[in-house]
Amino acid sequence: MANIAVENLIVGAGFSGATIARLLAETGQKVLVIDKKDHIAGNSFDYVDENGICIHKYGSHIFHTDNEKVWSFLKQFSDFNGYTHKVVAVIDGIETVIPFNINTLYDVFSTDTAQRLEEKLLGKYEFETKVPITEFQSQDDEDLKFLADFIYKKVFEGYSTKQWGQIPDKTVMARVPVFVSHDDRYFQDKYQGIPTGGYTKLLEKMLDHENIEVRLNMDFKEILKQVQDDVKVFYTGSIDEFFDYKFGVLPYRNVNFEFETMKREFYQSNSVINYPCDHDFTRIHEYKYYLNDKSDKTVIAKEYSQAFEVGKNERYYPIAAEDNQALYEKYLRERPENAYFLGRLGDYKYYDMDDAVERAMNLFEELNAVSKPLAEVPV
Ligand code: UDP
Repeated sequence: MANIAVENLIVGAGFSGATIARLLAETGQKVLVIDKKDHIAGNSFDYVDENGICIHKYGSHIFHTDNEKVWSFLKQFSDFNGYTHKVVAVIDGIETVIPFNINTLYDVFSTDTAQRLEEKLLGKYEFETKVPITEFQSQDDEDLKFLADFIYKKVFEGYSTKQWGQIPDKTVMARVPVFVSHDDRYFQDKYQGIPTGGYTKLLEKMLDHENIEVRLNMDFKEILKQVQDDVKVFYTGSIDEFFDYKFGVLPYRNVNFEFETMKREFYQSNSVINYPCDHDFTRIHEYKYYLNDKSDKTVIAKEYSQAFEVGKNERYYPIAAEDNQALYEKYLRERPENAYFLGRLGDYKYYDMDDAVERAMNLFEELNAVSKPLAEVPV
């Protein structure tokens, strides 16, 4: 029996679900947002601990975008600080920034070698461009091949094997190019920063609308029984779960965090330090850097990666592989007319936060365009 009267049911209260919820609510439609967790914000959930340090429970989240539309949408709900992200990696015991740029060359190689590589890069590629190491591998040039092999071995291979359990496909390798530049930032987007009150607060504000109701600790199957048949369902969970795994389980990677609070001001020189070749963990996060929290203590988290297992741990990363994509698409072909899948899990795509917001905004616009009366559509 349908005893909940809403036009839209949103499954998942992370960036994707909250964005579409807000946009629908603003058109006057009633929206119910549910989440199986006991909090909103999905994996971007953060909270302030007893030391006044804002902890990103599911790992560091750094917002960055070039998309004006996404940026102005989000700015309605929070200010962002001026934090710009750098990633330090320990290579042969030396701390340097990645992706490799010209400064990195001087950190890890002798001055002679670094100078030679710098000249080579500047002679062949435009300044301020990002070149994937696969491009160097295809060149008939011993220096560039040496650089590609070095990066592959010291930055990519070890980290990726820990992170993915295998060497991932080229789309992932493209995330660690060489940046022909002196720019140490991890992202070059026009807009970047951390919401000044944290991500949870930002999403709380987004969901704070008279047409939105949020219910936590809710199983979507239970709720589906209680809503009318023609409700629109926006599902940001994993598509295999929606269909009771009838074609099999879609693979994901899980990460888990070993937190430690220390009685010292700082533990490491940067918010994130990667350990591509050492240790079982991939990286260490130190949270107080993000909002410049003042405390005589610090909190770090060591990040370990393993396979996702249904009922045992949670999904973090879709795994880019042809078989997985085919399985995803097989499920998608079963999509009921009133159900829409979106988000990192729903679309099975390695979205950053801004991609997730953009996708939700685009879906909303598509649906809105379709439902507009013909008289309003310009001919
Ligand atoms: N990566 C790597 N070495 C590094 C950092 C990243 O090989 O030191 C590769 C690795 O495959 C990783 C991917 O690049 O999974 C993306 O890393 P990033 O830290 O940008 O992504 P996040 O896990 O923060 O989404």
